[in-house]
Amino acid sequence: MTYKSGPHFLQIPGPSHVPGRILSAIGQPTIDHRGPEFQTLANEVLAKVKPIFQTECPVVILPSSGTGAWEAALVNTMNVGDKVLMFETGQFSSLWAELATRLGLQPEVISGDWRHGVDAAAIEARLLEDKGHEIKAVCVVHNETSTGVTSQIQKVRKAIDAANHPALFMVDSISGLASAEYKHDEWGVDVTVSGSQKGLMLPPGLGFNAVGPKALKANENARINRSYWDWNSQIGMNADGWFPYTPSTNLLYGLNEACDMLMEEGLDNVFARHERFAEATRRAVRTWGLEVLCQSADEYSPVLTAVVMPEGHSADSYRATVLDKFDMSLGSGLGKVKDTVFRIGHLGYFNDLMLMGTLSGVEMGFAVAGVPHKKGGAQAAMEYLTGNA
Ligand SMILES: *Cc1c(COP(=O)(O)O)cnc(C)c1O
Repeated sequence: MTYKSGPHFLQIPGPSHVPGRILSAIGQPTIDHRGPEFQTLANEVLAKVKPIFQTECPVVILPSSGTGAWEAALVNTMNVGDKVLMFETGQFSSLWAELATRLGLQPEVISGDWRHGVDAAAIEARLLEDKGHEIKAVCVVHNETSTGVTSQIQKVRKAIDAANHPALFMVDSISGLASAEYKHDEWGVDVTVSGSQKGLMLPPGLGFNAVGPKALKANENARINRSYWDWNSQIGMNADGWFPYTPSTNLLYGLNEACDMLMEEGLDNVFARHERFAEATRRAVRTWGLEVLCQSADEYSPVLTAVVMPEGHSADSYRATVLDKFDMSLGSGLGKVKDTVFRIGHLGYFNDLMLMGTLSGVEMGFAVAGVPHKKGGAQAAMEYLTGNA
């Protein structure tokens, strides 16, 4: 490896930058997870994490990435053979459906074009057809990280209610939480799935399930084999500040610090900051003469922007040039948009100058890699940022 001076620009949409305050918190000595000091930490962090989900419900903290939390949501509520209704927003919704299939569930996926969010009307129509209530859950992705499209979760809730359907409502807000507005209780979500390495500014390694009362009820009759992922043992022991097995103690230190930081800034300010970065980024993209993958203005992601490469140019070789010349990692196109799209993460521990560095790097990369574009994208973003300081 050649020596690189200055910080690496980690502009993938998760893992995101981990701030010094969190790294220092994580760097404390590991303690006895059956001792009194741990109990204080756990009680604190289990309480502090709830307002981040905007919930009064229990939030189960798992030693996993987001994928483990997807699995936990399903094995704690479903029976083998159950139908679950999903919507294809992109790669992550598709992976959740694959996981459901491997667990013995029957996902029914409404197909989408990867450029729009969940079509609530299509969900409603399908639920209305399901007179026998065979569909046991509706599972959607809030912020689709592969496309940069944020679905309107309230609309999906309204669709389920309008169909008067009893299915559980499960939402993956792995990359939305703590960056895009999210309200577990008010939006009537039964299970919210999340992870540590996106808006929460932590390293990878924690998964979350916010669990509403209807999901807890479903848990009583859910017969998929489960042990490690079982909510009951978690929620039961969490009540007194304990975990059923060795938790990720040091990541819990970090989570405690992350919750403090988010509350110090104020969640509304966090969301507004992300919206502003996203708008500045889109102005840059349009000035370059390129296309944002998301095609509906009310579903633009505040977390990341996926950019369509000019016809005939490889997104992956462009990204390789940016990494090599400017030490910046951009997100790759996933699944159906592999090599035709790249993604700019603008989430988490991030400010105006980091965004300007990022967009300058993207534009310099175009020039070096010979990608056709118009100059001045970074300039357009700068003007937007200074005009909306
Ligand atoms: C990152 C992400 C996942 C996958 O989580 P892992 O932590 O990689 O297991 C799932 N869904 C969405 C929307 C994500 O952004």
